[in-house]
Amino acid sequence: MIAATEKKDIRKLTLAELKEFFVEQNEKPFRANQVYEWLWKKSAKDFDQMTNVSLELREKLKQHFTINHIRVDTMQRSEDGTIKNAVNLYDGLVVESVLIPTKDRITACVSSQVGCSLDCKFCATARLKRIRNLSADEIYDQVVAIRQQAELFFNRPLTNIVFMGMGEPLLNYTNVLAAIDKITSPEGLNMASKRITLSTVGIAKMIKKMADDNVKFNLAVSLHDALNETRSAIMPINQTNPLEDLAEALTYWYKKTRRKVTYEYVVWKDVNDTPEHANALVKFCKIVPSKVNLIEYNPIDDGQFQQASPQAVAMYQALLAKNGIVARIRKSRGKDIDAACGQLANKT
Ligand code: SAH
Repeated sequence: MIAATEKKDIRKLTLAELKEFFVEQNEKPFRANQVYEWLWKKSAKDFDQMTNVSLELREKLKQHFTINHIRVDTMQRSEDGTIKNAVNLYDGLVVESVLIPTKDRITACVSSQVGCSLDCKFCATARLKRIRNLSADEIYDQVVAIRQQAELFFNRPLTNIVFMGMGEPLLNYTNVLAAIDKITSPEGLNMASKRITLSTVGIAKMIKKMADDNVKFNLAVSLHDALNETRSAIMPINQTNPLEDLAEALTYWYKKTRRKVTYEYVVWKDVNDTPEHANALVKFCKIVPSKVNLIEYNPIDDGQFQQASPQAVAMYQALLAKNGIVARIRKSRGKDIDAACGQLANKT
């Protein structure tokens, strides 16, 4: 007996593969374009939504394929307007994504992995360990869901996307790039690459690869310290991927892309709140044109890390300004619902 074949997720097919299927089925290949448009541009979750496709063809598609869409399971709203989504994946796993509204932007913060393997000592996601990579469509769907929420709750379009949710995007490189491809393509959401920022812990090899691949989006690096000893203690990745390698990769990145790098940096009490650390940051910032986001620390319960004093942050800001480096203080958003940087931990 032949085992019942499992239905394939239709969105795993490229347009060319979909066309091939249609030809095999004695259908006109242009029909594949229509279906593809439903799947991506119109984010259809069901074959029956495809109203310009004949009933017969829809039935045929249903026999062969499924559409594995993510499902927003719970949605929490912060008092500052931020929305956090717990997103159910087809296999029951959960990731979180966040909508961040400001006066002139609506930003989607999306996850790239279920959990994270990097073990940064100050981050709640690190406690979840890494379970698996998200597929390109699971990443794309998070953006689609937030885009709909932007329209529904704010009556405004989604303007920006940041890969600052759960996981390390450069350890899921192929799928993240495939998702961005769809997000920026006219067949998908047609958003501008310059509206997208990928945030990484700073994996040197992969930063060079991105430069070689000629990507058009922005790069942010979670730096947090510019001295190897301290950075290695709080971000274990630095032990095998030290600041020298990062600096070399960023130099390569800038040479190829001519795009400024953003450094994300938290100033913590008794960790990096002295002029020695601030001077090291200034020096690092001079390697390639860059700017700094001084992020407010979001406590993750155990009290090991504490936000530095306002004076220490002001000291950083003054030193950076004196050296001509733009630095902004980033207030946390969505803290009350655990939606802020480093707080995504599937608590719900
Ligand atoms: N792995 C990628 C994407 C995660 S982005 C990266 O490391 O860049 C999440 C951002 O929030 C990173 O800059 C991270 O360093 C920062 N972060 C983590 N925990 C935090 C916390 N408790 N408070 C403030 N920022 C935090």
